[in-house]
Amino acid sequence: MRILLLATILMYGCGGVDPIWTGNSDMLDLVARFYVEWDSRTDTRHPVSDIDIGYMTAGERDLAPSDAIGFWQCGTIRIAIDRDTWRDLDSLGREQLVFHEMGHYILSRRHDRGEFRCPWGMCPASIMNPYHIDSDIYDRYREMYLGKLLR
Ligand SMILES: [Zn+2]
Repeated sequence: MRILLLATILMYGCGGVDPIWTGNSDMLDLVARFYVEWDSRTDTRHPVSDIDIGYMTAGERDLAPSDAIGFWQCGTIRIAIDRDTWRDLDSLGREQLVFHEMGHYILSRRHDRGEFRCPWGMCPASIMNPYHIDSDIYDRYREMYLGKLLR
């Protein structure tokens, strides 16, 4: 009986393995926000994946497309963010960048070049647009972008 109880405790102890999150704490805050937004929009508690997110290394810079400001290495838990871009972005721009890369990593989303008519002319229809969206546009249509991404 004692052995069975111990085995049960050990099994429960191993059942709830916490995901491993490493990297830049400001970026990880946005990873956490991604899950909060996703869970609240789908009324579901999604399992949280391991992630390593931080500034792009020289090696990652060589691997990524030359103009990439964010880069998810396919098949890994690693998201790399261009340091100068991160420094220059406002909070909405940072959210957009992290959520876009999480779209690739967690949601297996590909780029979406769709557009729609808006007061600025034509605006990206998706946060998965390959180009970073101006923060005024992102701010105005944030609910639409997140609604499409996190469904
Ligand atoms: Zn992308």
